[in-house]
Amino acid sequence: MTEVELHRAIAYGTIGAGAISFLLLLFVAAPYGRNVRPGWGPTLPARAGWLLMESPAPVAFAVIFALGPDRARVAPLVMLALWQLHYVYRSFIFPFRLEIAGKRMTLFVAGIGFLFNGVNAYLNARWISAFADYRIAHLWSPAFAGGLLLFFAGYAINHHADGVLIRLRREGERGYAIPEGGLYRFVSCPNYLGELIEWLGWAVLTWSLAGAAFFLFTAANLVPRALSHHRFYRERFAEYPRERRAILPFIL
Ligand code: NDP
Repeated sequence: MTEVELHRAIAYGTIGAGAISFLLLLFVAAPYGRNVRPGWGPTLPARAGWLLMESPAPVAFAVIFALGPDRARVAPLVMLALWQLHYVYRSFIFPFRLEIAGKRMTLFVAGIGFLFNGVNAYLNARWISAFADYRIAHLWSPAFAGGLLLFFAGYAINHHADGVLIRLRREGERGYAIPEGGLYRFVSCPNYLGELIEWLGWAVLTWSLAGAAFFLFTAANLVPRALSHHRFYRERFAEYPRERRAILPFIL
């Protein structure tokens, strides 16, 4: 088996793992954040968990990218910049903005996240800097332009929505309140909606199986989590806005 064949097999494997995760997560909420509960093995401080699980995304991606023969070409470098724009923030800044001192994360979730982010970094970085052969003309293609638009729209939605959640807690607070403003008018989890739009944009702008596998795996995790958060809000707050959906405005 050549490395390109192995790479394709891993991409299809990621899609398969996503389908299984989706079915499981519809019934069992991933044990982190508000869903941490006993019975899932050892735990670690939540902030350390975030750092552990997200760090392969920027670090492994950068290393694998740098090993590829196309590492100095313009289009791959633009894609590297987009990836790192998201993941340097998510891995090294976001965990320190969260009001989660004293909270725990299961080692299980941090470990699965670490593994997924490592595999996903390989899939996407190797594709971009070794296998795809992106010429500079790709940057003027409709796929790149449309994908870039989606990527930045998703980025803006995700950052705004995460910011609303972060501002809901004053220092030392650990409870939950009803988030308002922006796309919270329509859905309970615009942060996940934004994340999905962003990686849909990535899949389109790279026009790749690796990008599609990443998007599908992300959807498989975030849609069930949004449904679970939505149920939580409805059960916890009698006054929760009835017209609000979980993740897709007016639909789901
Ligand atoms: P959550 O919405 O569960 O929580 C985000 C933060 O806000 C947590 O600190 C949480 O506290 C706090 N919070 C959430 N809701 C409220 C509320 N109503 N009132 C007060 N505080 C609240 O998001 P996740 O932790 O699942 O995800 C965080 C980010 O990571 C998102 O942008 C998401 O898109 C991204 N992500 C991406 C994934 C991917 O596959 N690409 C996978 C998972 C996340 P607490 O932890 O105490 O509940």
